Amino acid sequence: MATTAFPHRKRVVLLGATGSIGENTLRVIAAHPDKLELVAIAARGNWEKLAAIARTHGVRHVGLFDDTAFAAARANPAAFPPGTHLVGGLAGLVELAQLPAADIVLVAVVGTTGLEPALAALAAGKDLALASKEILVLAGRQVLAAAAASGAKLLPVDSEHSAVFQCLEGHPLSTVRRVTITASGGAFRDWPVERLAQVTPADAVKHPNWSMGPKITVDSATLANKGLELIEAQCLFSLRPEQCAAVMHPQSIVHAIVEFNDGAMLAQLGPPSMTFPIQHALLYPERAPGTEAPLDFSKLLSLEFRPIDEARFPMLRLAREAMLAAGGAPAVYNAANEIAVAAFLAHQIPFLAIPRVVEHTLDRLTFSSPSDLPSILALDQAARRLARLEIVNHKS
Ligand code: MG
Repeated sequence: MATTAFPHRKRVVLLGATGSIGENTLRVIAAHPDKLELVAIAARGNWEKLAAIARTHGVRHVGLFDDTAFAAARANPAAFPPGTHLVGGLAGLVELAQLPAADIVLVAVVGTTGLEPALAALAAGKDLALASKEILVLAGRQVLAAAAASGAKLLPVDSEHSAVFQCLEGHPLSTVRRVTITASGGAFRDWPVERLAQVTPADAVKHPNWSMGPKITVDSATLANKGLELIEAQCLFSLRPEQCAAVMHPQSIVHAIVEFNDGAMLAQLGPPSMTFPIQHALLYPERAPGTEAPLDFSKLLSLEFRPIDEARFPMLRLAREAMLAAGGAPAVYNAANEIAVAAFLAHQIPFLAIPRVVEHTLDRLTFSSPSDLPSILALDQAARRLARLEIVNHKS
């Protein structure tokens, strides 16, 4: 058996264990039993799947955000390993994020739920592997301040940000001219514009390269996902809005390109699978054999890059405007988009109405720059209410 170079294995808390990031994280952990140990898991409501994960990985700290699911899990202790400590609600997730026996917390819960646990993890000095977009988009300043205060590391899990992180390593920020993240273009990149008006939820959830949940797959088709990623990149790497760009790259092999002052560019390449960035975040700064096979240059590989037409993808233009407006604008962009996508998936608005709802919400909501978590969450709620109103108006 291989012996480990660590005094102990890196102990991982996984918040959002039952989703697609969670599943890929479990694959990475299973592939590196000598380096990684799963010590706590949480999910929103799928307690039976969570119980199965707890049994497979021998996890004794388990959290359920949803009250009904928490009650169901408590009524079925035999489904969990003996001695399982079961916690519920947001307080339960925060408790797991600060678990004394943990080194790193991977936050992959959907929506704003991950915000408080992420800040709690950093405050407790745990390294934070960030997969949930909302956390940096809503509370970027607070997250960076919490990391700086405790000295904990912020490790991006998204493929693009992991790529930027890897390309930037060892290079001072003053030498960076521009960071370009790639966009596959989603399900409709080759559709004529006229056809976009007819896109159905069933069309939108088919992604050509990545397999993900319905919300993020729609976000890939509108490029709202790329917009959110630009906002995150600006925050995470302390860039100016004009230093952040996106380019269409249908193959999803190059994940980001960093351009330096002298015109030299460094790019990061890998297959379009989340196990690569997840493994990088969990094992950082160590590198170990990948969970999956790397790219193989003995086979033909073509890489194509095209400029993005912002008239066709207004969500990218709106993200850029939100970055320039700063303050709470990115949070409003995120909240309005979430409501609009849910309405589209429920057949309440057409595909092309998604950016219209977001633009109207950004135009009509007046707000000041939120300085703390309660005011951020209040702005998030206000934007959701206004976006719902826009949707009602749109239908009538
Ligand atoms: Mg991404």
